Amino acid sequence: MNGFDALLLLLDALNGSPDPDGTHRHQCTECGCIWEHPNSRQGDGDAHTCPGCGFNDGGPWWHYEGPDAPAYVEGPDGYPMAA
Ligand SMILES: [Zn+2]
Ligand SMILES: [Zn+2]
Repeated sequence: MNGFDALLLLLDALNGSPDPDGTHRHQCTECGCIWEHPNSRQGDGDAHTCPGCGFNDGGPWWHYEGPDAPAYVEGPDGYPMAA
């Protein structure tokens, strides 16, 4: 494998399956609160209940990609940790 193929493989991994050790962010459509949690909690309803106001629209839960820092960061057990 040459270096270019290796790069393509890497890009594919980034686009395809999310890193289970990584995290992603959401923004509440009701109160604007931003929170972050591990990718392993994808599809978990509890993890997608807004930690600020308790709102949960049932999904699909769009990822927040903006520049603002999250107000809450959830660990693998679902409990918010200090951001
Ligand atoms: Zn999520
Ligand atoms: Zn909210």
